[in-house]
Amino acid sequence: MKIICIGRNYTKHIEELQNEKPKEPVIFLKPDSAILAKNQPFFIPPFSNDIHYEVEVLVKINKVGKYIEEKFAHKYYDEIGLGIDFTARDLQNNLKDKGLPWEKAKAFDGSAVIGEFFPKEELGNLLDLNFTLQKNEEIVQKGNSKMMLWKVDELISYVSQFFTLKKGDVIFTGTPEGVGKVSENDILIGTINGQKAFEIKVK
Ligand code: ZN
Repeated sequence: MKIICIGRNYTKHIEELQNEKPKEPVIFLKPDSAILAKNQPFFIPPFSNDIHYEVEVLVKINKVGKYIEEKFAHKYYDEIGLGIDFTARDLQNNLKDKGLPWEKAKAFDGSAVIGEFFPKEELGNLLDLNFTLQKNEEIVQKGNSKMMLWKVDELISYVSQFFTLKKGDVIFTGTPEGVGKVSENDILIGTINGQKAFEIKVK
């Protein structure tokens, strides 16, 4: 399986990182080796002093598709989840400055937290999903899917022009504002529409 991530999909997050608003979705990939094993802690890697959490709504693809039209995109997923796109912000800034690809900053081992998935019918209106990230009892990120610049179905259509989507692939749909640094012993808890999707300990 592959993990396809969308960058810069929420205006306020674009502003907080002082990025330019893109004309098309920003896409990058993570390999399957980036997945943090279930119930395992996240270990801060030795190559970064500035690992950020980014909580994101996830979409799990349920069948093969290429050149998917937006109006048919809803047939390609049954489940929605929540995860974290861990980012080595110091490395990423360095790579960005040099115009280099972001993989070292975004695709390292453990950088993809994939929490529980929920049947989409259970979640109700997918254009109005509330999600939060809590760090040590404090809510640090609070998002709603209606604030996405490109919605899930638009993303599936766009992404499938470049990459054949396969069953089991996961799309990370971008993070809202409030990203920040993690430190040893932090506990990160994600919820979507009030349901707990993951709990991660940082080491
Ligand atoms: Zn992200």
